Amino acid sequence: MAELEGFEFGKSDFVLLDEVTMEQFLENLKLRFEKGRIYTFIGEVVVSMNPYRPMDIYGKENIDAYRGRELYENPPHLYAVADAAYKAMKRRAKDTCIVISGESGAGKTEASKYIMQYIAAITNPSQREEVESVKNVLLKSNCVLEAFGNAKTNRNDNSSRFGKYMDINFNFNGDPTGGHINNYLLEKSRVVQQHEGERNFHSFYQLLRGGSGDLLKSLHLNNNPSEYLYTKQGSSVTSSSDDLKCHRAVMGALKVIGFSQDEIDSIYKILATILHLGNLQFVSDGESVQLVGGDTVKHISELTSSEDESVYKTLLYRTVATGGGEVISKGHSEQEASYGRDAFAKALYERLFGWIVGRINSVIEVKNYNPALHGKNTVIGVLDIYGFEIFENNSFEQFCINYCNEKLQQLFIELILRQEQEEYHREGITWQHIDYFNNQIIVDLVEQAHKGIISILDEACLTAGKVTDTVCLESMNNKLGQHPHYTSRKLCPTDKSMEFNRHFRIRHYAGDVTYSVEGFLDKNKDPLFQDFKRLMYNSSDPVLKDMWPDGKLSITEVTKRPLTAATLFKNSIIALIDKLACKEPYYVRCIKPNEVKSPMLFDEARCRHQVAYLGLLENVRVRRAGFAYRQPYERFLQRYKMTCEYTWPNHLMGSDREAVEAIIVQHGFEEDVAYGQTKLFVRTPRSLFTLEQERAAL
Ligand code: ATP
Ligand code: MG
Repeated sequence: MAELEGFEFGKSDFVLLDEVTMEQFLENLKLRFEKGRIYTFIGEVVVSMNPYRPMDIYGKENIDAYRGRELYENPPHLYAVADAAYKAMKRRAKDTCIVISGESGAGKTEASKYIMQYIAAITNPSQREEVESVKNVLLKSNCVLEAFGNAKTNRNDNSSRFGKYMDINFNFNGDPTGGHINNYLLEKSRVVQQHEGERNFHSFYQLLRGGSGDLLKSLHLNNNPSEYLYTKQGSSVTSSSDDLKCHRAVMGALKVIGFSQDEIDSIYKILATILHLGNLQFVSDGESVQLVGGDTVKHISELTSSEDESVYKTLLYRTVATGGGEVISKGHSEQEASYGRDAFAKALYERLFGWIVGRINSVIEVKNYNPALHGKNTVIGVLDIYGFEIFENNSFEQFCINYCNEKLQQLFIELILRQEQEEYHREGITWQHIDYFNNQIIVDLVEQAHKGIISILDEACLTAGKVTDTVCLESMNNKLGQHPHYTSRKLCPTDKSMEFNRHFRIRHYAGDVTYSVEGFLDKNKDPLFQDFKRLMYNSSDPVLKDMWPDGKLSITEVTKRPLTAATLFKNSIIALIDKLACKEPYYVRCIKPNEVKSPMLFDEARCRHQVAYLGLLENVRVRRAGFAYRQPYERFLQRYKMTCEYTWPNHLMGSDREAVEAIIVQHGFEEDVAYGQTKLFVRTPRSLFTLEQERAAL
């Protein structure tokens, strides 16, 4: 049973700091980390430190301790937030969401799994089979998504290279009936290139190390990742996870979810195709380009259920429509052929990933739910998405990720302020409005129609001819040079340096980030020769064909330009924000204690940085300006009546509200509370902790 703890472990809520300063915040964070207390509240927000060691705090006893309890009745824990979200959903029929943020390696994905496990553990007490099966698929989907969407990076051995939002649907009993997963911006460049010390997605190594001899033979692969360009570039083919064991677990999970053997075969054929593609090379004799790679083309055509000749042609030529409407075949240069091969490999993987997510969704989708019959279908959403990124070199990917974080911060401001104000108003409580930076101006800088950075990028991508990254940067500088959150190179002191001519800087809410514009246009346009799409559409493998519906169009029919990567991402993030905005939010803010995965080391500079950009001090200030806790009079009375002579053993007061007042006065907490219409508002958790301790001592 989780016991309420004393202050020897530091303050379990940052709202209790004597002063809200960075120094005090870090001191408390450090003390708690060193004492093995990895969670701390800021009101209802949980700040989570990655312990980098197994913790004995997730077992059944803990689950039982948190089930159905109020936040401050137990020490801070993910389970407390999960339970709060669940209770709001069940008791008040509210849709809720849990937003988990933090930088790479901070523990977001682990946190999301503990939250899901908690929800799975507290639901379906009667063990109904159909509910158990939904829960099983939801939990198993993590294993599959991690295999295909996670990779070893220099920051995290199991880094999620995509953003994930999962809705879990509940029936009127509060039992899961299904769900839906949305994925965001898979880092597909990793398929063809990895930094030193990093790996490609786990799925490739799991297949090579875990696939049976027969399977690998049928895919024309051997079991050595060092023999494939796409898996060996980071010179790091091993990882802390056991690829063989994971392969078995993924195979098992795919079957439980309901993937057919044919579908599983197709998945492995696609992975093998990508590995073979990576080993293809092109050489030019000055006139034409030839393929080097032995039987590789044959293997690719076999694995993709295509004709040898078509694969060969698609790799070396592209179809173009001439001005006169004639369709001709044009040979690639060596560079174009390599570019095409890599673009094809990336697209194959991205579509495979999207298809897997879609297939899981088709299984967990809520079917035959009739609200008239079954009551309101409520939802808990869990968002595990990349945190703010500031690297030495920041590119298009960081630009998108940081834009996403601006949007989430905007939502945080909007929801926290709006909700607080609405509640105070409803309950007739006077409240001092607190000012803090509204980042809408930065959101506009990025996404505003016609004027924002994404629009300017798109315009450059649509312009015929050769618009280069630097020309596009020039255009951004001209249009945005005066913006208070944009710095063009002209305003930079190092203007003369060529290096700096390729950069622009955004003053994000979390800090300044300088982006290198190199590759922006190409990543935004994300071109793939239509011939590849047609080749896949014409495959006789139904799974593969299904992933490439746009290959149906012939070259003369392809007129509409596909949306750019930035616009697609923007649209998906706007849709995500819409989804979150109509839910009651709960937040988990994850912090990484050090860069070396040590359970002992509290790297103060790194923690300071994260506390700053997660906006945690502001969060504490807002929390302190308002009332951290609120509770209906009746419930408060039930819980604490034994601590006051006027309410225990006999309730001598008239109304519940009067009885609550008596408890407050007897303890001398008048300064810490306000009385609303139906609820007691408590400014800091101090009084509640005292009451809890008194209650426990009785
Ligand atoms: P990314 O953004 O790269 O996906 P992340 O925030 O999702 O990072 P995780 O993968 O959840 O980070 O955590 C990184 C590693 O830290 C885990 O593989 C695990 O070793 C350790 N870790 C995180 N949280 C915990 C925890 N609660 N208990 C024990 N170990 C943990
Ligand atoms: Mg992760």
